Amino acid sequence: MTEHDNNTELLSLIDKLEEKSVLSKDEYAYLIESFTPQVSEYLFEKSRRIREKYYGKDVFVRGLIEFTNYCKNDCLYCGIRCGNKNAQRYRLSKSEILECCKTGHELGFRTFVLQGGEDPYFTADRLIEIIREIKAAYPDCALTLSVGEKSYGEYKAYFDAGADRYLLRHETADNSHYRKLHPENMSPENRKRCLMDLKKIGYQTGCGFMVGSPFQTAQNLAEDMLFIKELEPHMVGIGPFIPQHDTPFADKASGTLEQTLFMLGLIRLTLPDVLLPSTTALGTIHPLGREKGILAGANVVMPNLSPVAVRKKYMIYDNKICTGDEAAECKNCLQLRMKSIGYNVVVNRGDHAKY
Ligand code: SAH
Repeated sequence: MTEHDNNTELLSLIDKLEEKSVLSKDEYAYLIESFTPQVSEYLFEKSRRIREKYYGKDVFVRGLIEFTNYCKNDCLYCGIRCGNKNAQRYRLSKSEILECCKTGHELGFRTFVLQGGEDPYFTADRLIEIIREIKAAYPDCALTLSVGEKSYGEYKAYFDAGADRYLLRHETADNSHYRKLHPENMSPENRKRCLMDLKKIGYQTGCGFMVGSPFQTAQNLAEDMLFIKELEPHMVGIGPFIPQHDTPFADKASGTLEQTLFMLGLIRLTLPDVLLPSTTALGTIHPLGREKGILAGANVVMPNLSPVAVRKKYMIYDNKICTGDEAAECKNCLQLRMKSIGYNVVVNRGDHAKY
């Protein structure tokens, strides 16, 4: 086949995806391993149009509060894995967390995301108390949790206490790939069980994966696409894998900008009304990464609300951006960045189109 025929075939696969909102595994994999800049541009024109159909030019913001970097898990890619003895551990007190929310609310945030390692100090009782107090103080806000794998009972208790959304990236849909990224005591089956439970309970649920993680193949990414199609999450968080120097993957290559953007575009066509963040990791591998993410179909940004004193300690990967800025600077900076490409940061909860 000539290069020209190849391109024509790739473009018609994008047309097919737009029309049917799904492709076969082999079709996804073929697109992922063969796309060119021209194919990307063709995809992004469509993904932007679909994004605008559901969300206009609005960009939703989430105030991210990284409230603990203690973690009992030892995920091979992650800088706050328990095996990293060089990590300086911290946890925020309940009043520090509430202080972050106060700052965030004044700045116009109407969603708070509590993210952390799996820290045994935060028992269900402690978390429930924090959830209740945040929701009592800010009834106009949505609360998202991102605290890892829990039992059905715990997820239900957090939901009943007022949590609205939950982010738990599945990391990779391929079971053998999952095992290469995680220690033996973690299983892809349990990760997926958690996501099913979260949906069943009624959370707006987010899954997601790293692009370019070690050992990942185009087939694996194609499986991720089929997995999200089947799960139908409300949110999908993806960003490039970035090595962290104190992990077993210190010497692995980062995921690329081009491939991450391409995956964002494919996700937008596969789940047209999904909430899709343009992540900090994307901004870390390219100075205009987050703008490019929005232009590839993303519609959410998640500036950091954590106190500046602890920011550098939540180093899940190297060279993470925005670790020196106050929350207000982060908010203003993102607002300007979004304006520069013709989009507007809005003050609202930013619920999924179906809510
Ligand atoms: N403990 C929580 C939050 C984890 S941090 C949980 O299990 O959900 C949030 C996400 O950061 C992870 O799900 C992972 O996909 C991503 N992450 C971790 N290490 C990374 C790295 N080195 N590069 C890029 N992303 C990483």
